[in-house]
Amino acid sequence: MTAIRYELIKTCRQTGARLGRVHTPHGSFDTPAFMPVGTLATVKTMSPEELKEMGAGIILSNTYHLWLRPGSDIIKEAGGLHAFMNWDRAILTDSGGFQVFSLSEFRKIEEEGVHFRHHLSGEKLFLSPEKAMEVQNALGSDIMMAFDECPPYPATFEYMRKSVERTSRWAERCLKAHKRPEDQGLFGIVQGGEFEELRRQSAADLVSLDFPGYAIGGLSVGEPKDVMNRTLEFTTPLLPSNKPRYLMGVGSPDSLIDGSIRGIDMFDCVLPTRIARNGTLMTSTGRLVVKNAQYARDFRPIDEECDCYTCRNYSRAYIRHLIHCNETFGIRLTTYHNLYFLLRLMEKVRQAIREDRLGDFREEFFERYGFNKPNAKNF
Ligand SMILES: [Zn+2]
Repeated sequence: MTAIRYELIKTCRQTGARLGRVHTPHGSFDTPAFMPVGTLATVKTMSPEELKEMGAGIILSNTYHLWLRPGSDIIKEAGGLHAFMNWDRAILTDSGGFQVFSLSEFRKIEEEGVHFRHHLSGEKLFLSPEKAMEVQNALGSDIMMAFDECPPYPATFEYMRKSVERTSRWAERCLKAHKRPEDQGLFGIVQGGEFEELRRQSAADLVSLDFPGYAIGGLSVGEPKDVMNRTLEFTTPLLPSNKPRYLMGVGSPDSLIDGSIRGIDMFDCVLPTRIARNGTLMTSTGRLVVKNAQYARDFRPIDEECDCYTCRNYSRAYIRHLIHCNETFGIRLTTYHNLYFLLRLMEKVRQAIREDRLGDFREEFFERYGFNKPNAKNF
């Protein structure tokens, strides 16, 4: 019995996007799905009750951060991450690899693993496939990620080839070290940058290891959006259709739609929560920077079409005032709205797939959001 099961409900006749459902030991969620990010076992300023109220079926948490603070031993003692943070729906944890490669300045990659220094204290640390599995087994997430190398963008073909081969060897070690396959599903991560040949090799290596799901890594790392879309076009068909596909680190509204069209089922990104904290909001007619002077006397809601808690109760002028004064309540209101906006967007995407009109939906959404304008301010 495997911990994670993917059910394909239907494919959009207009685009090929997939409507599905992922079943986990902590309930099921509908796909394509957006996963809010709760780095330190909390989606910043939101309570688990609020996340449920807005319809989140799965959240993501970061292995690297929890391993260091408070320590995976403490979370294990609490009964695992679900009990520790009082969240009874699904949780996905990353492997820690991305943070090691992006936060730590002093790192040395060896076959065995990666030596690096703590991004705050400078303490010497070591992370390997076995260690990443041990920590995630202690956290008890429903979906765990294999420990992979995240090469910088751009990287040369030769560097990327060596990296892909190492990531495949590490994936095999992760599978061997994973102690709880019956209650935690381990996903493999396809790497290879923008190189079709390497994506092909990476996917073939990982698919032969028969993971319960696959992620596409190494995208949304600074490459232009057309490179990401092209890479998805030749990568997703390499993955088995009976397993979920997760595009890591993507959360702008246009990329969520374009990724779904290319067969992606799961997404995560800090974008909606991060931009909320400085007062940038996603709305049905585009980006709104509530700090701007033009909103000082604007008593309309953030998004007149939104029925979230924030938009039902508070005005742009009030939220602008709170954000200007660095009031926590302001950040809570903007965070709530942005997450609600993306979760509703994915609901609309699923409805459009159900009705075989995701292509039309994309056109309408892009037009209203302003993505079609030549100087569109995207995220
Ligand atoms: Zn709202």
